[in-house]
Amino acid sequence: MKKVVKFGGSSLASAEQFEKVGKIVKSDKHRVYVVPSAPGKRYDGDTKVTDMLYATYALASEKKPFDKELNAIKSRYQEIIDGLKLKTSLDDEFKTIADNFANAVGSDYAASRGEYLNGILMAAYLGYDFIDAATVIFFKEDGTLDSKKTQQVLSETLKEHPKAVVPGFYGALPDGSVHTFSRGGSDITGSLVAKACKADVYENWTDVSGFMVADPRIIPNPESIETITYRELRELAYMGAGVLHEEAIFPVRKEGIPINIRNTNAPEDEGTWIVESTCQKSKYVITGIAGKKGFCAINIEKDRMNSEIGFGRKVLQAFEEQDISFEHVPSGIDTMTIFVHQSEFAQKEQKVLAGIHKLAEPDYIDMETDLALIAVVGRGMKSTRGTAGRIFSALAHANVNVKMIDQGSSELNIIIGVKNEDFEAAIRAIYTIFVDTQL
Ligand code: ASP
Repeated sequence: MKKVVKFGGSSLASAEQFEKVGKIVKSDKHRVYVVPSAPGKRYDGDTKVTDMLYATYALASEKKPFDKELNAIKSRYQEIIDGLKLKTSLDDEFKTIADNFANAVGSDYAASRGEYLNGILMAAYLGYDFIDAATVIFFKEDGTLDSKKTQQVLSETLKEHPKAVVPGFYGALPDGSVHTFSRGGSDITGSLVAKACKADVYENWTDVSGFMVADPRIIPNPESIETITYRELRELAYMGAGVLHEEAIFPVRKEGIPINIRNTNAPEDEGTWIVESTCQKSKYVITGIAGKKGFCAINIEKDRMNSEIGFGRKVLQAFEEQDISFEHVPSGIDTMTIFVHQSEFAQKEQKVLAGIHKLAEPDYIDMETDLALIAVVGRGMKSTRGTAGRIFSALAHANVNVKMIDQGSSELNIIIGVKNEDFEAAIRAIYTIFVDTQL
């Protein structure tokens, strides 16, 4: 049995947090590979080390003095070293970093040092081997992950190190220079390590006890989700439910390795299990609700649209030509509506409209802005009658006008479009009907 454990920045923000992490790792002998993030915020208003590194490097690349800023970063690590009474010294590492900053080696290198240094400390603290991620995680020339090479080298290397720390977030480009994933990317490193060592579980330790049924900023103390499938998670994550980096599920998903989201500050909580499939029923008919504001609907009308073959393609081509991806396309007999992200669409709106006119020759186009989309997701909906009915009667009672409805053929989710200003009320109404009333 092997477990890969990834710890987020808030789990490693101070010596005190490191101690909690140490206890967690040591309490289970199967926790053999550890993937740390950089130290995060210690308190509200604190700055993450990754952000400090970006800011310090920005000064260095403008040839401005950066000693003070780099020293502040060094103090963050020294505080951890002192608190844990480690014998490790990072003096030489910081000398190298200062030289590389002065030589403007790149902001990815700069940001990656947060994880790199934390990895060195974590390995020393646990007595595990340290593996520099730049020697085992590889990117292609274009910056995308080289999965094949990574899998090959990483799995070989892990075999030589029965217990090791692999810092998250970065790897190397073909020329050997450091490259990072997008922000929050240590989750991806953890997933790659889990895949490479054929782990039985990938534990992702953070500061919440898993995924919540709804956003706690809208629903106070929402229920947490015990088990969620990868597909459900994709739907919810796409619609804004945070916690795990979106890309992190792909490496382990193919291998059937479950992800367990856990809370470093409440290790006794089971957290959320993310699995390929499950016969476990979710506690409620719905698994989760998530949504986003800021959409725009483009309504297109044309007489006899229904019999004009290729009309939809022409309309969508106008969006494609402007490099805009669409979200949903509900349609009627002679009408078609395209939902897009307002911020993405706004700058290109006239070009898209001109394109639609030119390509599809519609009779009429109008637009509606400031819309929100809400996804109600649940594997249980497929086998339950009346889910949609309950959602819409709850919305009607909450005085929310529904602008759009889209149910995917998988019956895994129902997407509802409402006005931005009705967004919170709609989520509250849906949560109440399914969770509070235990239906
Ligand atoms: N430290 C990086 C960030 O703040 C990566 C990570 O934490 O996963 O985005």
